[in-house]
Order: sequence, then structure tokens, then C-alpha cells
Amino acid sequence: MKDAATTATPAAPASPEAYADAVATAVRAAAAYYADGSTPLGDDEYDALVRAIEAYEREHPDQVLPESPTGKVAGGAAVGDVPHSTPMLSLDNVFSAEELESWAAGLERRLGRPVAAWCVEPKLDGLAVAARYRAGRLTQVLTRGDGLAGEDITHAADAVLGLPARLAEPLDVELRGEVLLTHEQFEQANAVRTTHGATPFAHPRSGAAGTLRAKDRPYRVELTFFGYDAHGLPGLDHAELLARLAELGANTAASTEAAPRRCATLAEAEQRIEKIAALRAALPFGIDGVVVKADAVADQEQAGSGSRAPRWAVARKLQAQHKVTRLLGVEWNVGRTGIIAPRAVLDPVVIDGVTVAYATLHNPADIERRGLMIGDQVFVYRAGDVIPRVEAPLVDERTGSEQPIAFPEVCPRCGDAIDRAEQRWRCVRGRGCQAVASVIYAAGRDQLDIEGLGGTRAVQLVESGLVADLADLFTLTKDQLRTLERMGETSADNLLGAIETARTRPLNRVFCALGIRGTGRTMSRRIAAHFGSMVAIRAAHAEALAGVDGIGPEKAAVIVTELAELAALLDRLAEQGVGTEVTEPVAAAAVVAAAAATGGASAVGPVGEGTAAGPLAGQSVVVTGSMTGALAELSRNEMNELIERAGGKASSSVSKRTSLLVAGEKAGSKRVKAEELGVPVTTPEEFAVLVADFLG
Ligand SMILES: [Zn+2]
Repeated sequence: MKDAATTATPAAPASPEAYADAVATAVRAAAAYYADGSTPLGDDEYDALVRAIEAYEREHPDQVLPESPTGKVAGGAAVGDVPHSTPMLSLDNVFSAEELESWAAGLERRLGRPVAAWCVEPKLDGLAVAARYRAGRLTQVLTRGDGLAGEDITHAADAVLGLPARLAEPLDVELRGEVLLTHEQFEQANAVRTTHGATPFAHPRSGAAGTLRAKDRPYRVELTFFGYDAHGLPGLDHAELLARLAELGANTAASTEAAPRRCATLAEAEQRIEKIAALRAALPFGIDGVVVKADAVADQEQAGSGSRAPRWAVARKLQAQHKVTRLLGVEWNVGRTGIIAPRAVLDPVVIDGVTVAYATLHNPADIERRGLMIGDQVFVYRAGDVIPRVEAPLVDERTGSEQPIAFPEVCPRCGDAIDRAEQRWRCVRGRGCQAVASVIYAAGRDQLDIEGLGGTRAVQLVESGLVADLADLFTLTKDQLRTLERMGETSADNLLGAIETARTRPLNRVFCALGIRGTGRTMSRRIAAHFGSMVAIRAAHAEALAGVDGIGPEKAAVIVTELAELAALLDRLAEQGVGTEVTEPVAAAAVVAAAAATGGASAVGPVGEGTAAGPLAGQSVVVTGSMTGALAELSRNEMNELIERAGGKASSSVSKRTSLLVAGEKAGSKRVKAEELGVPVTTPEEFAVLVADFLG
């Protein structure tokens, strides 16, 4: 399971001094965590540290320090002085399916019989609270504190959605559950805080902790309660208890996609864990694990509890989605429409199994709201396929050497002014900012192949005002060209001749020259073959474009939008007779075959067309991991020879220029890099089909 923590048991500290250091670090981190939720130690690192401490204590039981966090609720970080009715316990953790199975086997040995049923529910990443009701009215809310006594936070109760002031029945009961900020509430909270001049919360858990304990704030931050336990509702199995809580009017995780579920067997419970882990990125709140409980009250009572945790429940931890790392710098990239977007350069950090080296910073106002500085330790969030984002700096960790983030004074690409009217800054030239780059691209060898129109000439033509876009090239006159510096009669004639030749380039090259996102050489060929004319391409709806192999609904929508934006340019090109070639549209099946013959790559490669024959013509291919299937016996060298026989170029490292990555078993960093760069990835089996004619 990709999403689950699979950390091996960390090594025990090597000496009594190292052990004492580890304990001190863990105690500090636990105190910060339970005070305001912020700690420079990530959750995964904290868990690993405690497990190392436990390992040392098992080997040296006589040396256990009294302040050690092991065996204590909340790692010994005690806060609060209102005694709990019964102790509020933590949960023991397991980090793999094997550990879960061995925990379950231990429980069944203790019971002397199989567990009747399991109940599986998400482990919410918030703060545990106890809510006391008298005759159905909410009278007091406590934090967990050290498990024996908590802090009174009744003042915060009315901002907690899902924790009713009045239950549906006039019962004396104590509800227990988690209070958290949903992702949406977190964003709202930070928006309202920054408008009041307060620093934003580092992440949802610290936001929930801070909000519950704060008094007399001039603004309101809403939180959400999820009930999972109660005292005063005896005799109910766990799933029944959850249903009863909902009946009384409390919110439970049953209101979410990750709803608690009763499972007859441990295997079924493990499937549900996988399901909840897979849903994680899509849930509207953070979870840090999945809880597995013996469902039957008889099993629970017989198993009983230890001093820290019940013996009938365990948390299967998932890897943290928040990590702390350092902000090394900020890059400013100018998009195709002139939007100037900041991007955080991070000290690379592995989050949820993926190495993150960059994160989005949205816009300059967002940077100011978050109060970021270069050199800051920052919380970075990544879930599923979302773009990693920087949430906030750890202001308390600053050393004084942090530097302010420099905002650009002028457009980083063309040097013209910046339009700052909106939150998202934009080059005043808009799409025109790209004029030089887009003219050079259009004139490139794989597009219109206009000899003599390289970097310097393109800059000259754009700066002189003669050319603002591709279509202007085709109306240039010799007199106009002669006004340019270092443009003699011969050079002018040569350039005009090259442009004249380009006027009749085939449709696929003209289409490619437009530089529409996601349409490199290969994709342009497929689109041109599929539709047969520029008129037909321009008339195509997204659904029709999605009929071209390799174009999904998302890419199809982008192409439609960009074509619409380019309408005026396309009209002018048509007037100039550019891209007016008409051919018979190729039937869909033939397009698929043609697509297969070009290897499914859409990257713009530097290699010219027709340099070699075969399905990999013009493609740069990288192989990584161990080959399987028909390719299992091939050495890396034989793989390279195969690629070359099939017309491709074998390369050993992945770059923007890579057309295709063949990723076998245990593919590692190359696969990650290919995915980051958007390079198509294929399996050995798929690749074997593609090059079948060249095998053996
Ligand atoms: Zn610009």
C-alpha cells in the first residue's frame, strides 16, 4: 500500500547519552505539539524517534528515564487540571499490515477466541475532546490533556460544528471525539486571521489547537467535531455506538466517504484500510491513520486497557502529508498568457513516498499573507496528486539569517512592466510577452523550419515592432527587413526565401508551430491526420479532440480553449495560405496505429523527423528498473541496441528531452523525475508490443 508508513523499526540510540538526548527531543516536540500543534519534528520523525527510544528501553529496562514519553498519553505533555470521568487513552500504533496482523493475533490469544468483528474508521488528525451533557444539554468540554485531566475549553464549544448544544434526548452522557479544521475551514481561518493582522496557522492541527484554547478573539473560526466514543451509553457494540451518537445529533465520520465500517474478518478490515488510505487525498479533512477496533462490547471488556491505550483498538498509521523542510529560494516563471507565478524551491523532502523539491506559492499576495522568508523552515503539504504547497513558516525556528523574498520589479522574461492590478501578477504584454520565444519555437526545425530565424533575429524582429506573432512573418517585405541592423540584401533575400518555403509546410508542422500546450510533434501529427484540415481542427469540440489517441478530456479542453484564443492569428495565417493543406481525415483505427507507431510520446524532442525509420524514430528513450516479460532476458546494452534498431536513441538519464521512459520493476528516481517532467512512462510489456518487430 503506497500510502501507508512502511518505516522499518528505527535503530535504538547507541549510548545512554544518545538515549537521553532522544528523550529530551521527544519531550520538547510533544510539548510543542500539544500546546499549539507546531513542532519542527514531522509526525513521521516523531514516531520514529519514540520507537527508537522504546527499542533502547527494551534493551536497558534499568535505565528508563522518568520523563521518557513512552507509555504516556500525549507523550507526557500534560496540560489541564479538570479530572476526566474515566481516563482518555491514546492508541497504540502499527506501521504495516504485518504489524497489524501480529497485534490482532496477540489480542485473539488474550481473548482465547477469534475477535467477533472489527470496526474500521479513519483516524482524524485533530484534537481529542470530551463533551459532557446533563439532561441533554452541553455543560462542559475538556481537552484530553494528559489523559487523566484536561483543560476546560467550554468557551469554544459554540464554534464547533457537529457538537450540538442540545442532544436529541435528555441524557446524562459524555461524548468523546476529535475536533479539527476541515481543509475549507483551515483556509477560511487563515483568511480571517490575516485580515486581522494575525499570523496564519501553520497547518490544520495547530489551527484547531490554537482556536480551541484561545479566548476573546475578535473573530470567529469554525471547527468540526467527529464523535467516536461515549460514556453513559453502555452495552453497545462499537458500530452501534457510532450510529447512536449520530441519532443523538452529533456528527460522526459516517457523514463522510471514509465512513466507519464493520468487517467480519481481519482481511476485510485490511481492505477497508486500503480503501480509506486511497480516499485520503479526496477527503475534506486530514487523517493520519486508520483505526481498527474490536467491535463487540464483550471483546472490548474482556481485553481491557493498559495505562496508556486500550488493548482492543490500534491505529494503523499512514505517512504524514505535512513535512517540514527549508525554503531555499523562490523562482518566478512567466506563463504563456503572461501570468508571473512564484514557485518555492525546497530542500527536497519525501512526502507520502514522493520526493518534493518544488511547491506552489500561488501569487505574491499569498507569499505576503504567509509571511515567508528565504531560509525559513516551512510546512509543506502534499496529498495524492495535488500540487505540493507551502502552508506556513515556523516562525519560532528562525535564526535571524532568513532573507526577505525579492519580488520582481519587471517581467522576468521580457523585462517589460508588470501589471499588479490583480492578485496574480501579469506581464503587461500578456501573451505578447512570449512573442520572441514563440517565434523562435515556430521557426524551429520540427515546426516551420525557417533557416536564419534564430534567437538574435527573432529578438530583432520583435523589438523593432515588425513581428508580434507568427503570422506577421508571412507579410514581411524586403524593405522592412532592410531597416534592421546588420541585415544586408543577401540576408534579407535568404530570410524571405526561407519564409516562403515555410508557407507550404504540411498541416501537422503548422499546427505544431502554434505551440499549444501538450501538442508536440507527435501529437500534432496525430491531430493533423485525424482531422485533415485546419478548418476541421478549429471546428472540433472537445469530445471530437478526445477521439485522438493520447488526448484525454482535460487536454482536449485546453486545446479548444487555446485554439479559440488564437482565432485571430489563425485567420491571418489562413489569409497568407499557411496551414491550408487539406487531406483525407484518417479513420480512428488508423490514427491509433499511427500513434502506436510513434510510441505515445507527446514531448517536443530536439531530434529531427525522418532521421531513422521504425516506431521510435526521432525519440529519446530511457530504460530503468528490471525488465520483465519478453524483455526479461535482455541486458541493458541489448535494450539500448533494441531501441536503436527501432529507430530511437537510447539515453541513460531522464530530462525534458526524453520522449519515453520504460520503467520496469523497482524503478526509482528516474521514474519520479519522468513523472515530474511529464515524460510518458511505459511498462516493459507495453514497450515490447511497440517494438515487437525488432525483437530477437
Ligand atoms: Zn513579459
